[in-house]
Amino acid sequence: MPTCYPKFYLVLLLILSSPGSYCQQKINGLLYSDNKPVSITIKDGKITAVKRIKKLPEGDPALFVAPGLIDNQVNGFAGVSFTFGGDELTAEGVKKATEALWKTGVTTYLPTLTTNSKELLEKNFTVLAQIKDDPSLLGSIPGFHLEGPYISPVDGYRGAHPLTHVRKPDWNEFLELNEASGKNILQVTVAPEVEGALDFISKCRENGIVVALGHHNASAETVSAAIDRGARIATHLGNGCANMINRHVNPLWPQLADDRLMISIIGDGFHLNPEEIRVFYKVKGTDRTIITSDVTSYASLPPGKFVNSEGDTIELTPEGMIRYPAQNVLAGSASPVRKGVYNVMKVTGCSLAEAIQMTSANPAHLYGLNDRGEIAIGKRADLILFQIRDNELFIMKTFVNGRLVYEYTEDRK
Ligand SMILES: [Zn+2]
Repeated sequence: MPTCYPKFYLVLLLILSSPGSYCQQKINGLLYSDNKPVSITIKDGKITAVKRIKKLPEGDPALFVAPGLIDNQVNGFAGVSFTFGGDELTAEGVKKATEALWKTGVTTYLPTLTTNSKELLEKNFTVLAQIKDDPSLLGSIPGFHLEGPYISPVDGYRGAHPLTHVRKPDWNEFLELNEASGKNILQVTVAPEVEGALDFISKCRENGIVVALGHHNASAETVSAAIDRGARIATHLGNGCANMINRHVNPLWPQLADDRLMISIIGDGFHLNPEEIRVFYKVKGTDRTIITSDVTSYASLPPGKFVNSEGDTIELTPEGMIRYPAQNVLAGSASPVRKGVYNVMKVTGCSLAEAIQMTSANPAHLYGLNDRGEIAIGKRADLILFQIRDNELFIMKTFVNGRLVYEYTEDRK
């Protein structure tokens, strides 16, 4: 890539540069953290300068600029499932899902494989490992999230995870899955009360894999022991939990009470009531909360009933809720994380700066992705320009690694 031009050509190049060019460019906007105009210089995919300016240049629309969103739980998107596609998961499918996510402001995500057979998980991890570092994905996939299969088999807690594939933690199996993934599993969600789970958590910690607690009914003692062993976050707190629980003894209190544990929450408006989000946020605060989507392949499909590869009927309602009627539980979300960002702001009163932190810097820190998650010199130029309207962050432009990958046009939907 060319990196240096005579000065008099630079302006011309900036004007003529096609979307995707890697030459130096400037992005102006209202900085998400204080609503003040800023000019960000990017070159070769990185942020090289962040300068305050008095006002936006004439003709520039007043758009917020923020780091690209990081979503740690993407089960699938745009008709592509990372688990339930069976033979159908392909490199092209991963690319399609990634490009569709860019349009929603997500510049980094963890494809999430949920409970299934070892063969299917291995197969799909292999596909993901092969495409992960493809230049066309611009580094949007730093690694993967394995949610299950080592979770509670009990109805309600296991959610929509197929019972036949729920099993006890097996370190050797996990090593083989991680091998298939190219050693790219960044996070595994487990139920700590299941036999062997605590030792499994210790081994994950020794190997630098983030352990999340989820789809479980662990006691306070077991939650505490799991955190002692290295568990760092609760996966979608308040979900993956039975509808009827004991008011004193349930898995929510100990996870809320322990300051060492972060939480992820699904902010789509269906998974949690406003009061739950408000309380969870008050307890954990901005630094220990991550907004996630739990978005699935059904996200962009018209409402209706679908039969997944396990033979289970999944319903997408006209309101955008994805249900698993047989268990009367939700089966993931149809809303990209940008909706959760808005919804969490609305129900908690937190600032845009705080909501963005919970969807960029926090997950970046948790997974050791030090090259992204903030607008700062030297970081990847993963940036979004947006307005707040229509009950979400309305994405106007997305840059990934300095490249313009999406620009809003009227035929967006
Ligand atoms: Zn789940």
